[in-house]
Amino acid sequence: MTGRADRPRVAVSACLLGHRVRYDGRDKRAPTLIDALRGHVAVEPICPEVDAGLGAPREPIELVRTTAGVRVVGVRSRIDRTDAIEGVARALGVSAFAGLVLKRGSPSCEPRAVRVRGGAPEPGRFAAIVRAAAPDLPVVDEVDLADPDRLETFLAAVRVRARRSR
Ligand code: SF4
Repeated sequence: MTGRADRPRVAVSACLLGHRVRYDGRDKRAPTLIDALRGHVAVEPICPEVDAGLGAPREPIELVRTTAGVRVVGVRSRIDRTDAIEGVARALGVSAFAGLVLKRGSPSCEPRAVRVRGGAPEPGRFAAIVRAAAPDLPVVDEVDLADPDRLETFLAAVRVRARRSR
């Protein structure tokens, strides 16, 4: 086993790690995921919505298709949070990471496709910006990593990316 300092850095949605950062002030702790990553990677929690200054608990947000593209807005207030969420993604310094594990179904974190009011499903807004900045970055969600084969594939890709960036 390698020391923590030698392990590839992987950013993980903080709610999956047991941080109480969700809109309802709760977490979505995923013990199986935490166990699966332990000893293999250096885990770094991220929460785009808290990092954007929205606090926890907070008003939930949703994605909305508009004439100005997909926007992130408060479900009740309709306040536009797009610039704040995108700013967090751009500030992440994605090149320092060898992989990302993001929460499925979140309007910020979902790596593939989540509901967009008035439009076709898209990735969460944070995930979309990060993936555009680093198309080769291995990105999965917590459901993917519950499958042992997908876990191994992800860890192998993370190791390759970490070696390349040394
Ligand atoms: S923004 Fe992402 S990390 Fe933060 S609570 Fe939502 S799903 Fe979890």
